[in-house]
Amino acid sequence: MNLEEALKKYFGYDHFRNGQKEIITQVLSGIDTLGILPTGAGKSICYQLPALLQNGVTLVVSPLISLMKDQVDQLTVSGIPATFINSTINESECSTRMRLVEKGSIKLLFVAPERFLQSDFRHFLTQLSIDCVAIDEAHCISQWGHDFRPSYVEFATYLKALPTHPTLLALTATATPAVSADIQKLLGIQQNHTIQTGFLRENLRFEVVKGQDKSTFLKQYLNQHKNEAGIIYAATRKEVDQLVDALKKLNIPATKYHAGCSEADRKANQEAFLYDAIPLMVATNAFGMGINKSNVRFVIHYSLPSTIEAYYQEAGRAGRDGLSADAILLYSPNDLRLRTYFIDQSDADEKHKKNEYEKLRQMQGYANSEDCLQRYILQYFGDEGESCGKCQNCVDERVKKDITQDTQKVLSCVIRMGERFGKTATAQVLIGSKNKTLEKWHFETLSTYGIMKGVSQKSVRELIDFLSAEHYLLITGGTFPLLTVSETGKQVLLGQKKVYRKTTLLTDTSAVSTDT
Ligand code: ADP
Repeated sequence: MNLEEALKKYFGYDHFRNGQKEIITQVLSGIDTLGILPTGAGKSICYQLPALLQNGVTLVVSPLISLMKDQVDQLTVSGIPATFINSTINESECSTRMRLVEKGSIKLLFVAPERFLQSDFRHFLTQLSIDCVAIDEAHCISQWGHDFRPSYVEFATYLKALPTHPTLLALTATATPAVSADIQKLLGIQQNHTIQTGFLRENLRFEVVKGQDKSTFLKQYLNQHKNEAGIIYAATRKEVDQLVDALKKLNIPATKYHAGCSEADRKANQEAFLYDAIPLMVATNAFGMGINKSNVRFVIHYSLPSTIEAYYQEAGRAGRDGLSADAILLYSPNDLRLRTYFIDQSDADEKHKKNEYEKLRQMQGYANSEDCLQRYILQYFGDEGESCGKCQNCVDERVKKDITQDTQKVLSCVIRMGERFGKTATAQVLIGSKNKTLEKWHFETLSTYGIMKGVSQKSVRELIDFLSAEHYLLITGGTFPLLTVSETGKQVLLGQKKVYRKTTLLTDTSAVSTDT
Protein backbone atom coordinates (compact mmCIF):
# COMPACT_ATOMS: atom_id res chain seq x y z
CA MET A 1 0.00 0.00 0.00
CA ASN A 2 1.53 3.34 -0.98
CA LEU A 3 0.98 6.55 1.00
CA GLU A 4 -1.89 7.77 -1.17
CA GLU A 5 -3.69 4.46 -0.73
CA ALA A 6 -3.16 4.62 3.02
CA LEU A 7 -4.50 8.18 3.09
CA LYS A 8 -7.61 7.06 1.23
CA LYS A 9 -8.06 3.94 3.34
CA TYR A 10 -7.77 5.55 6.76
CA PHE A 11 -8.98 9.09 6.15
CA GLY A 12 -10.95 8.96 2.92
CA TYR A 13 -8.91 11.72 1.22
CA ASP A 14 -7.70 11.42 -2.37
CA HIS A 15 -4.70 13.72 -2.25
CA PHE A 16 -2.17 14.96 0.21
CA ARG A 17 -2.16 18.62 0.91
CA ASN A 18 0.94 20.71 0.49
CA GLY A 19 3.75 19.51 2.79
CA GLN A 20 1.96 16.47 4.24
CA LYS A 21 3.56 13.81 2.08
CA GLU A 22 7.08 15.21 2.51
CA ILE A 23 6.68 15.26 6.28
CA ILE A 24 5.19 11.77 6.44
CA THR A 25 7.91 10.35 4.19
CA GLN A 26 10.64 11.82 6.41
CA VAL A 27 8.98 10.55 9.58
CA LEU A 28 8.65 7.05 8.15
CA SER A 29 12.35 7.17 7.22
CA GLY A 30 13.21 7.95 10.83
CA ILE A 31 14.24 11.55 10.18
CA ASP A 32 13.58 14.04 12.98
CA THR A 33 11.45 16.70 11.33
CA LEU A 34 10.07 20.15 11.93
CA GLY A 35 6.84 20.83 10.03
CA ILE A 36 5.63 24.41 9.74
CA LEU A 37 2.21 24.43 8.13
CA PRO A 38 -0.47 27.10 8.42
CA THR A 39 -3.51 26.59 10.60
CA GLY A 40 -5.98 24.28 8.91
CA ALA A 41 -3.34 22.82 6.59
CA GLY A 42 -3.75 19.36 8.12
CA LYS A 43 -0.90 18.84 10.56
CA SER A 44 -2.62 16.03 12.47
CA ILE A 45 -2.44 13.61 9.57
CA CYS A 46 1.34 14.09 9.52
CA TYR A 47 1.61 12.01 12.69
CA GLN A 48 -1.63 10.04 12.47
CA LEU A 49 -0.83 8.33 9.20
CA PRO A 50 2.72 7.27 10.19
CA ALA A 51 1.29 6.00 13.48
CA LEU A 52 -1.00 3.67 11.54
CA LEU A 53 1.79 2.44 9.31
CA GLN A 54 4.20 1.61 12.12
CA ASN A 55 4.16 -1.23 14.62
CA GLY A 56 4.61 0.59 17.89
CA VAL A 57 2.89 3.53 19.49
CA THR A 58 3.09 7.24 18.63
CA LEU A 59 3.22 9.67 21.50
CA VAL A 60 1.53 13.01 20.84
CA VAL A 61 2.58 15.80 23.19
CA SER A 62 0.23 18.73 23.26
CA PRO A 63 -0.37 21.55 25.73
CA LEU A 64 -4.07 21.56 24.92
CA ILE A 65 -5.49 19.23 27.54
CA SER A 66 -9.04 20.35 26.92
CA LEU A 67 -8.89 19.18 23.32
CA MET A 68 -7.39 15.76 23.85
CA LYS A 69 -10.72 14.12 24.50
CA ASP A 70 -12.20 15.47 21.26
CA GLN A 71 -9.14 14.45 19.27
CA VAL A 72 -9.24 10.95 20.72
CA ASP A 73 -13.00 10.67 20.20
CA GLN A 74 -12.63 11.66 16.55
CA LEU A 75 -9.91 9.05 16.01
CA THR A 76 -11.90 6.38 17.80
CA VAL A 77 -14.92 7.07 15.59
CA SER A 78 -12.67 6.53 12.57
CA GLY A 79 -11.61 3.17 14.02
CA ILE A 80 -8.13 4.35 15.05
CA PRO A 81 -7.18 3.16 18.55
CA ALA A 82 -6.15 6.23 20.55
CA THR A 83 -6.27 7.39 24.13
CA PHE A 84 -5.07 10.22 26.34
CA ILE A 85 -3.59 10.49 29.78
CA ASN A 86 -3.92 13.82 31.55
CA SER A 87 -5.07 15.50 34.73
CA THR A 88 -8.77 15.18 33.80
CA ILE A 89 -8.81 11.42 34.44
CA ASN A 90 -8.43 9.68 37.80
CA GLU A 91 -5.60 7.40 38.82
CA SER A 92 -7.33 4.07 38.24
CA GLU A 93 -8.49 5.14 34.78
CA CYS A 94 -4.96 6.27 34.12
CA SER A 95 -3.57 2.83 35.05
CA THR A 96 -6.16 1.09 32.88
CA ARG A 97 -5.10 3.20 29.93
CA MET A 98 -1.42 2.60 30.61
CA ARG A 99 -2.02 -1.15 30.60
CA LEU A 100 -3.81 -0.85 27.25
CA VAL A 101 -0.86 1.02 25.80
CA GLU A 102 1.57 -1.53 27.20
CA LYS A 103 -0.42 -4.34 25.61
CA GLY A 104 0.06 -2.64 22.24
CA SER A 105 -3.66 -1.95 21.75
CA ILE A 106 -3.17 1.78 21.26
CA LYS A 107 -1.64 3.52 18.24
CA LEU A 108 -1.74 7.11 19.47
CA LEU A 109 -1.24 8.25 23.04
CA PHE A 110 -1.87 11.94 23.80
CA VAL A 111 -0.17 13.51 26.81
CA ALA A 112 0.64 16.99 28.13
CA PRO A 113 4.32 17.92 28.52
CA GLU A 114 3.95 18.19 32.31
CA ARG A 115 3.41 14.41 32.47
CA PHE A 116 7.11 13.93 31.77
CA LEU A 117 7.91 15.47 35.13
CA GLN A 118 6.53 12.36 36.86
CA SER A 119 9.21 9.71 37.19
CA ASP A 120 6.76 6.77 37.14
CA PHE A 121 5.39 8.04 33.83
CA ARG A 122 8.89 8.30 32.42
CA HIS A 123 9.56 4.78 33.59
CA PHE A 124 6.33 3.63 31.91
CA LEU A 125 7.52 5.18 28.65
CA THR A 126 10.77 3.25 28.76
CA GLN A 127 8.72 0.02 28.64
CA LEU A 128 7.01 0.97 25.39
CA SER A 129 7.92 0.60 21.81
CA ILE A 130 7.57 4.23 20.76
CA ASP A 131 8.10 4.88 17.05
CA CYS A 132 7.48 8.57 16.97
CA VAL A 133 6.94 11.50 19.30
CA ALA A 134 4.82 14.22 17.73
CA ILE A 135 5.23 17.58 19.43
CA ASP A 136 2.21 19.70 18.65
CA GLU A 137 2.29 23.50 19.05
CA ALA A 138 6.08 23.15 19.01
CA HIS A 139 6.59 26.93 19.16
CA CYS A 140 5.79 26.64 22.90
CA ILE A 141 9.34 25.31 23.34
CA SER A 142 10.92 28.58 22.24
CA GLN A 143 11.47 31.52 24.52
CA TRP A 144 10.99 33.72 21.46
CA GLY A 145 7.63 32.24 20.59
CA HIS A 146 4.40 33.87 21.67
CA ASP A 147 3.38 31.11 24.02
CA PHE A 148 6.51 29.89 25.75
CA ARG A 149 5.99 27.00 28.18
CA PRO A 150 8.99 26.01 30.30
CA SER A 151 7.54 22.47 30.64
CA TYR A 152 8.29 22.02 26.91
CA VAL A 153 11.99 22.62 27.39
CA GLU A 154 12.10 20.17 30.29
CA PHE A 155 10.28 17.38 28.53
CA ALA A 156 12.53 17.75 25.50
CA THR A 157 15.47 16.68 27.63
CA TYR A 158 13.69 13.43 28.54
CA LEU A 159 13.01 12.55 24.92
CA LYS A 160 16.69 11.88 24.36
CA ALA A 161 16.60 9.24 27.10
CA LEU A 162 13.86 7.13 25.51
CA PRO A 163 15.37 3.71 24.75
CA THR A 164 13.68 3.25 21.35
CA HIS A 165 15.07 6.59 20.09
CA PRO A 166 11.79 7.58 18.50
CA THR A 167 11.60 9.89 15.52
CA LEU A 168 10.68 13.40 16.56
CA LEU A 169 8.11 15.38 14.64
CA ALA A 170 7.70 18.98 15.79
CA LEU A 171 4.67 20.76 14.36
CA THR A 172 3.59 24.36 14.49
CA ALA A 173 1.64 26.91 12.50
CA THR A 174 3.50 29.92 13.72
CA ALA A 175 7.23 30.19 13.75
CA THR A 176 9.39 33.18 13.01
CA PRO A 177 12.92 32.30 11.82
CA ALA A 178 14.19 32.76 15.41
CA VAL A 179 11.54 30.39 16.77
CA SER A 180 12.27 27.75 14.10
CA ALA A 181 15.97 27.91 14.94
CA ASP A 182 15.17 27.47 18.61
CA ILE A 183 12.97 24.42 17.99
CA GLN A 184 15.65 22.88 15.78
CA LYS A 185 18.33 23.48 18.40
CA LEU A 186 16.36 22.25 21.41
CA LEU A 187 15.09 19.11 19.68
CA GLY A 188 18.22 18.43 17.65
CA ILE A 189 16.44 18.68 14.30
CA GLN A 190 18.59 19.50 11.30
CA GLN A 191 17.74 22.69 9.50
CA ASN A 192 17.41 20.91 6.17
CA HIS A 193 14.86 18.56 7.71
CA THR A 194 12.41 21.39 8.20
CA ILE A 195 9.42 21.37 5.93
CA GLN A 196 7.65 24.63 5.55
CA THR A 197 4.87 25.24 3.10
CA GLY A 198 4.76 28.98 3.45
CA PHE A 199 2.37 31.01 5.48
CA LEU A 200 0.25 32.37 2.68
CA ARG A 201 -3.50 32.02 3.18
CA GLU A 202 -4.82 32.84 -0.25
CA ASN A 203 -8.47 32.86 0.65
CA LEU A 204 -8.22 35.38 3.49
CA ARG A 205 -8.98 39.06 2.95
CA PHE A 206 -7.27 41.23 5.55
CA GLU A 207 -8.58 44.55 6.72
CA VAL A 208 -7.68 47.01 9.47
CA VAL A 209 -10.44 49.33 10.62
CA LYS A 210 -9.17 52.41 12.41
CA GLY A 211 -10.40 55.89 13.14
CA GLN A 212 -13.96 54.55 13.27
CA ASP A 213 -16.28 53.73 16.12
CA LYS A 214 -15.77 50.01 16.69
CA SER A 215 -19.33 49.20 17.70
CA THR A 216 -20.82 51.06 14.73
CA PHE A 217 -18.57 49.13 12.40
CA LEU A 218 -19.45 45.86 14.08
CA LYS A 219 -23.17 46.52 13.87
CA GLN A 220 -22.98 47.29 10.17
CA TYR A 221 -20.71 44.38 9.37
CA LEU A 222 -22.76 41.84 11.30
CA ASN A 223 -25.96 43.05 9.69
CA GLN A 224 -24.41 42.47 6.30
CA HIS A 225 -23.17 39.01 7.28
CA LYS A 226 -26.20 37.59 9.05
CA ASN A 227 -26.17 33.84 9.60
CA GLU A 228 -22.55 33.50 8.56
CA ALA A 229 -20.31 31.81 11.10
CA GLY A 230 -17.80 34.19 12.66
CA ILE A 231 -15.62 34.75 15.69
CA ILE A 232 -15.05 38.04 17.48
CA TYR A 233 -11.96 38.08 19.65
CA ALA A 234 -11.87 40.52 22.56
CA ALA A 235 -8.93 41.27 24.87
CA THR A 236 -10.52 40.51 28.26
CA ARG A 237 -13.36 38.51 29.79
CA LYS A 238 -15.08 41.75 30.69
CA GLU A 239 -14.91 42.95 27.10
CA VAL A 240 -16.40 39.64 25.93
CA ASP A 241 -19.31 39.95 28.38
CA GLN A 242 -19.95 43.55 27.40
CA LEU A 243 -19.89 42.76 23.71
CA VAL A 244 -22.31 39.87 24.05
CA ASP A 245 -24.69 42.12 26.01
CA ALA A 246 -24.40 44.90 23.44
CA LEU A 247 -25.07 42.45 20.60
CA LYS A 248 -28.11 41.08 22.41
CA LYS A 249 -29.56 44.58 22.52
CA LEU A 250 -29.10 44.74 18.77
CA ASN A 251 -30.89 41.41 18.39
CA ILE A 252 -27.73 39.74 17.15
CA PRO A 253 -27.46 36.34 18.81
CA ALA A 254 -23.99 35.42 19.99
CA THR A 255 -22.47 32.86 22.30
CA LYS A 256 -19.31 33.32 24.35
CA TYR A 257 -16.21 31.59 25.60
CA HIS A 258 -13.66 32.68 28.15
CA ALA A 259 -11.83 31.26 31.13
CA GLY A 260 -14.37 32.81 33.51
CA CYS A 261 -17.28 30.75 32.13
CA SER A 262 -18.04 27.47 33.90
CA GLU A 263 -16.71 24.36 32.22
CA ALA A 264 -20.24 23.24 31.36
CA ASP A 265 -21.00 26.62 29.76
CA ARG A 266 -17.79 26.60 27.80
CA LYS A 267 -18.57 23.16 26.44
CA ALA A 268 -22.19 23.97 25.62
CA ASN A 269 -21.30 27.31 24.00
CA GLN A 270 -18.50 25.82 21.97
CA GLU A 271 -20.82 23.13 20.68
CA ALA A 272 -23.55 25.65 19.87
CA PHE A 273 -21.02 27.42 17.70
CA LEU A 274 -19.41 24.31 16.18
CA TYR A 275 -22.73 22.85 15.15
CA ASP A 276 -24.09 26.14 13.77
CA ALA A 277 -26.85 26.59 16.37
CA ILE A 278 -25.42 30.07 17.07
CA PRO A 279 -23.25 31.40 14.25
CA LEU A 280 -21.42 34.06 16.23
CA MET A 281 -18.80 33.36 18.92
CA VAL A 282 -17.41 36.16 21.08
CA ALA A 283 -14.33 35.00 22.96
CA THR A 284 -10.97 35.71 24.49
CA ASN A 285 -7.92 33.98 23.10
CA ALA A 286 -8.82 31.02 25.35
CA PHE A 287 -11.06 29.92 22.49
CA GLY A 288 -10.03 28.26 19.30
CA MET A 289 -6.87 26.21 19.71
CA GLY A 290 -7.50 23.03 17.81
CA ILE A 291 -11.09 23.98 17.01
CA ASN A 292 -11.84 22.44 13.68
CA LYS A 293 -14.74 24.40 12.22
CA SER A 294 -14.27 24.81 8.53
CA ASN A 295 -16.97 27.31 7.58
CA VAL A 296 -15.94 30.31 9.67
CA ARG A 297 -16.44 33.25 7.29
CA PHE A 298 -14.90 36.00 9.37
CA VAL A 299 -12.68 36.56 12.37
CA ILE A 300 -12.87 40.04 13.84
CA HIS A 301 -10.43 41.26 16.47
CA TYR A 302 -12.13 43.84 18.61
CA SER A 303 -8.80 44.76 20.20
CA LEU A 304 -5.19 44.60 19.14
CA PRO A 305 -3.65 41.17 19.82
CA SER A 306 -0.23 41.11 21.44
CA THR A 307 1.71 39.49 18.61
CA ILE A 308 1.50 38.82 14.89
CA GLU A 309 1.78 35.10 15.68
CA ALA A 310 -1.30 35.22 17.89
CA TYR A 311 -3.14 37.38 15.37
CA TYR A 312 -2.39 35.14 12.42
CA GLN A 313 -3.24 32.00 14.32
CA GLU A 314 -6.58 33.41 15.46
CA ALA A 315 -7.43 35.10 12.16
CA GLY A 316 -6.40 31.88 10.43
CA ARG A 317 -9.42 30.13 11.93
CA ALA A 318 -11.44 31.81 9.22
CA GLY A 319 -11.87 30.06 5.89
CA ARG A 320 -10.43 26.68 6.71
CA ASP A 321 -12.67 25.30 3.97
CA GLY A 322 -10.63 27.26 1.44
CA LEU A 323 -13.50 29.59 0.54
CA SER A 324 -12.99 33.30 0.91
CA ALA A 325 -13.19 34.73 4.41
CA ASP A 326 -12.45 38.00 6.20
CA ALA A 327 -9.81 38.74 8.83
CA ILE A 328 -10.57 42.13 10.30
CA LEU A 329 -8.69 44.03 12.99
CA LEU A 330 -10.46 46.88 14.74
CA TYR A 331 -7.68 49.14 15.87
CA SER A 332 -7.58 52.03 18.23
CA PRO A 333 -4.21 53.32 19.48
CA ASN A 334 -5.63 53.07 23.04
CA ASP A 335 -5.53 49.26 22.74
CA LEU A 336 -1.77 49.51 23.05
CA ARG A 337 -2.07 50.70 26.62
CA LEU A 338 -3.81 47.55 27.75
CA ARG A 339 -1.33 45.33 25.95
CA THR A 340 1.63 47.25 27.37
CA TYR A 341 0.07 46.95 30.82
CA PHE A 342 -0.28 43.16 30.41
CA ILE A 343 3.41 42.91 29.56
CA ASP A 344 4.40 45.22 32.42
CA GLN A 345 2.45 43.19 34.94
CA SER A 346 3.74 39.81 33.79
CA ASP A 347 6.32 37.84 35.77
CA ALA A 348 8.69 37.67 32.82
CA ASP A 349 12.24 38.96 33.24
CA GLU A 350 13.45 42.11 31.49
CA LYS A 351 14.87 40.28 28.50
CA HIS A 352 11.54 38.61 27.81
CA LYS A 353 9.56 41.73 28.39
CA LYS A 354 11.72 43.45 25.80
CA ASN A 355 10.92 40.65 23.37
CA GLU A 356 7.20 41.01 24.12
CA TYR A 357 7.33 44.76 23.57
CA GLU A 358 9.09 44.23 20.27
CA LYS A 359 6.38 41.79 19.18
CA LEU A 360 3.73 44.29 20.17
CA ARG A 361 5.47 46.94 18.05
CA GLN A 362 5.33 44.64 15.05
CA MET A 363 1.62 44.16 15.65
CA GLN A 364 1.17 47.91 15.91
CA GLY A 365 3.12 48.19 12.66
CA TYR A 366 0.62 45.88 10.98
CA ALA A 367 -2.25 48.09 12.10
CA ASN A 368 -0.56 51.17 10.66
CA SER A 369 0.93 49.68 7.52
CA GLU A 370 -0.22 50.90 4.14
CA ASP A 371 1.41 47.99 2.32
CA CYS A 372 -0.20 44.65 1.50
CA LEU A 373 -1.36 43.27 4.85
CA GLN A 374 -0.87 39.63 3.87
CA ARG A 375 2.68 40.41 2.75
CA TYR A 376 3.41 42.25 6.00
CA ILE A 377 2.55 39.04 7.88
CA LEU A 378 4.53 36.82 5.51
CA GLN A 379 7.58 39.03 5.90
CA TYR A 380 7.25 38.85 9.67
CA PHE A 381 7.56 35.06 9.38
CA GLY A 382 10.56 35.42 7.10
CA ASP A 383 8.63 34.60 3.90
CA GLU A 384 8.71 36.72 0.80
CA GLY A 385 5.52 37.14 -1.17
CA GLU A 386 3.71 39.08 -3.81
CA SER A 387 0.99 41.54 -2.86
CA CYS A 388 -2.23 39.61 -2.29
CA GLY A 389 -4.31 41.92 -4.47
CA LYS A 390 -7.34 41.77 -2.25
CA CYS A 391 -6.59 43.10 1.23
CA GLN A 392 -7.78 46.53 2.19
CA ASN A 393 -4.44 48.12 1.32
CA CYS A 394 -4.11 46.35 -2.02
CA VAL A 395 -7.52 47.57 -3.18
CA ASP A 396 -7.01 51.04 -1.74
CA GLU A 397 -7.15 53.28 -4.79
CA ARG A 398 -5.91 56.43 -3.16
CA VAL A 399 -2.86 57.85 -4.85
CA LYS A 400 0.56 57.69 -3.31
CA LYS A 401 2.12 61.03 -2.53
CA ASP A 402 5.75 61.82 -2.07
CA ILE A 403 6.11 62.69 1.64
CA THR A 404 9.89 62.64 1.74
CA GLN A 405 10.15 66.20 3.02
CA ASP A 406 7.71 65.70 5.87
CA THR A 407 9.48 62.48 6.73
CA GLN A 408 12.82 64.28 6.87
CA LYS A 409 11.30 66.86 9.22
CA VAL A 410 10.11 64.17 11.60
CA LEU A 411 13.29 62.11 11.47
CA SER A 412 15.59 65.05 11.95
CA CYS A 413 13.48 66.23 14.87
CA VAL A 414 13.79 62.79 16.50
CA ILE A 415 17.58 62.99 16.11
CA ARG A 416 17.76 66.56 17.39
CA MET A 417 15.79 65.49 20.48
CA GLY A 418 18.55 62.98 21.16
CA GLU A 419 16.40 59.92 20.30
CA ARG A 420 15.30 59.92 23.92
CA PHE A 421 11.61 60.84 23.57
CA GLY A 422 8.35 59.29 22.44
CA LYS A 423 5.65 60.04 19.93
CA THR A 424 3.75 62.71 21.87
CA ALA A 425 6.77 64.85 22.75
CA THR A 426 8.11 64.61 19.21
CA ALA A 427 4.77 65.59 17.70
CA GLN A 428 4.50 68.50 20.11
CA VAL A 429 7.95 69.81 19.24
CA LEU A 430 7.22 69.51 15.51
CA ILE A 431 4.04 71.58 15.77
CA GLY A 432 5.69 74.05 18.16
CA SER A 433 3.44 73.27 21.11
CA LYS A 434 3.65 75.50 24.17
CA ASN A 435 2.98 72.52 26.45
CA LYS A 436 4.40 73.19 29.93
CA THR A 437 5.92 69.73 30.32
CA LEU A 438 8.22 70.44 27.39
CA GLU A 439 9.65 73.63 28.86
CA LYS A 440 12.39 72.10 30.94
CA TRP A 441 13.98 70.52 27.86
CA HIS A 442 14.26 73.85 25.97
CA PHE A 443 13.19 72.28 22.73
CA GLU A 444 12.26 75.71 21.39
CA THR A 445 15.94 76.17 20.64
CA LEU A 446 15.89 73.27 18.15
CA SER A 447 15.70 74.10 14.46
CA THR A 448 12.89 71.58 14.10
CA TYR A 449 10.73 73.22 16.77
CA GLY A 450 7.48 74.29 15.08
CA ILE A 451 8.68 73.10 11.68
CA MET A 452 5.21 71.59 11.13
CA LYS A 453 3.29 74.47 12.63
CA GLY A 454 -0.36 74.48 11.58
CA VAL A 455 -0.60 70.70 11.28
CA SER A 456 -2.68 69.03 13.97
CA GLN A 457 -0.93 66.99 16.62
CA LYS A 458 -3.14 64.05 15.71
CA SER A 459 -1.95 64.09 12.10
CA VAL A 460 1.68 64.26 13.13
CA ARG A 461 1.16 61.35 15.52
CA GLU A 462 -0.42 59.38 12.69
CA LEU A 463 2.51 60.22 10.46
CA ILE A 464 4.87 58.95 13.16
CA ASP A 465 2.80 55.74 13.39
CA PHE A 466 3.05 55.33 9.63
CA LEU A 467 6.82 55.92 9.65
CA SER A 468 7.19 53.35 12.45
CA ALA A 469 5.05 50.82 10.60
CA GLU A 470 7.22 51.29 7.53
CA HIS A 471 10.37 50.93 9.66
CA TYR A 472 11.79 54.43 9.09
CA LEU A 473 11.45 54.97 12.82
CA LEU A 474 12.07 52.33 15.44
CA ILE A 475 10.25 52.21 18.73
CA THR A 476 12.10 50.82 21.72
CA GLY A 477 11.22 50.41 25.38
CA GLY A 478 7.99 49.39 27.01
CA THR A 479 5.84 51.68 29.10
CA PHE A 480 7.60 54.78 27.77
CA PRO A 481 8.45 53.90 24.19
CA LEU A 482 11.22 55.96 22.62
CA LEU A 483 11.68 56.83 18.97
CA THR A 484 14.95 56.27 17.16
CA VAL A 485 15.80 56.58 13.47
CA SER A 486 16.47 53.33 11.62
CA GLU A 487 19.11 52.71 8.96
CA THR A 488 16.44 53.14 6.25
CA GLY A 489 15.37 56.36 7.96
CA LYS A 490 18.95 57.62 7.77
CA GLN A 491 18.94 56.98 4.01
CA VAL A 492 15.87 59.24 3.76
CA LEU A 493 17.67 61.96 5.70
CA LEU A 494 20.63 61.69 3.34
CA GLY A 495 18.32 62.07 0.36
CA GLN A 496 19.05 58.52 -0.84
CA LYS A 497 15.49 57.27 -0.48
CA LYS A 498 12.04 58.69 -1.07
CA VAL A 499 8.94 58.00 1.03
CA TYR A 500 5.42 57.68 -0.32
CA ARG A 501 2.12 57.57 1.47
CA LYS A 502 -1.42 57.08 0.28
CA THR A 503 -3.63 60.10 0.41
CA THR A 504 -7.30 60.66 -0.32
CA LEU A 505 -7.06 64.10 -1.81
CA LEU A 506 -5.59 64.34 -5.27
CA THR A 507 -5.05 68.08 -4.88
CA ASP A 508 -3.62 67.89 -1.37
CA THR A 509 -0.45 69.93 -1.38
CA SER A 510 0.66 69.00 2.08
CA ALA A 511 1.35 65.32 2.69
CA VAL A 512 0.15 65.70 6.25
CA SER A 513 -3.41 66.90 6.27
CA THR A 514 -4.42 69.53 8.79
CA ASP A 515 -7.36 68.47 10.93
CA THR A 516 -9.80 71.12 11.92
P1 ADP B 1 -4.12 21.90 11.58
O1 ADP B 1 -3.79 21.09 12.81
O2 ADP B 1 -2.98 22.00 10.62
O3 ADP B 1 -4.72 23.24 11.90
P2 ADP B 1 -5.95 19.74 11.07
O4 ADP B 1 -4.97 18.65 11.19
O5 ADP B 1 -6.90 19.95 12.20
O6 ADP B 1 -5.23 21.13 10.77
O7 ADP B 1 -6.76 19.58 9.71
C1 ADP B 1 -7.69 20.52 9.27
C2 ADP B 1 -8.77 19.84 8.45
O8 ADP B 1 -8.26 19.44 7.19
C3 ADP B 1 -9.32 18.58 9.10
O9 ADP B 1 -10.71 18.56 8.94
C4 ADP B 1 -8.65 17.46 8.31
O10 ADP B 1 -9.40 16.28 8.35
C5 ADP B 1 -8.59 18.07 6.93
N1 ADP B 1 -7.53 17.47 6.10
C6 ADP B 1 -6.28 17.16 6.47
N2 ADP B 1 -5.59 16.63 5.45
C7 ADP B 1 -6.41 16.60 4.39
C8 ADP B 1 -6.28 16.17 3.01
N3 ADP B 1 -5.14 15.66 2.56
N4 ADP B 1 -7.34 16.30 2.20
C9 ADP B 1 -8.49 16.84 2.67
N5 ADP B 1 -8.70 17.25 3.93
C10 ADP B 1 -7.67 17.14 4.79
